[in-house]
Amino acid sequence: MQLNIFAKAAPLLREQKFNIDIDTFISFMGHYHHKDWIYPSAIHRSLKIDIKVIYSILELLVRDKYVESYLQIICPNCRRYTGCTYKNIGDVPETLSCMNCDFELEQPLDHAVIVYKVL
Ligand SMILES: [Zn+2]
Repeated sequence: MQLNIFAKAAPLLREQKFNIDIDTFISFMGHYHHKDWIYPSAIHRSLKIDIKVIYSILELLVRDKYVESYLQIICPNCRRYTGCTYKNIGDVPETLSCMNCDFELEQPLDHAVIVYKVL
């Protein structure tokens, strides 16, 4: 069994008084390991936690260097991941094409979602 690196974040999360079960959250986060992608929507679906609370928690985890945030571009045509991920808003090109359906996105930033990578 691999160490749950998020266990160390439990005291920090308890301090914030989020209206969630921290133990359940931390144990769920134990599924993620170094370099895994974390999709806030997946946590939302599994734990039924308000998506805004999930983003608040993940931003705290960014601040304390457990995870890093990225932008992934979702294709408006096929609704799947375009294959394009960027670290900064400034890195997103003016146009890009979807690796699944070759659709040309004119405003990729309009179709960006925030995802997190475990450090
Ligand atoms: Zn597509």
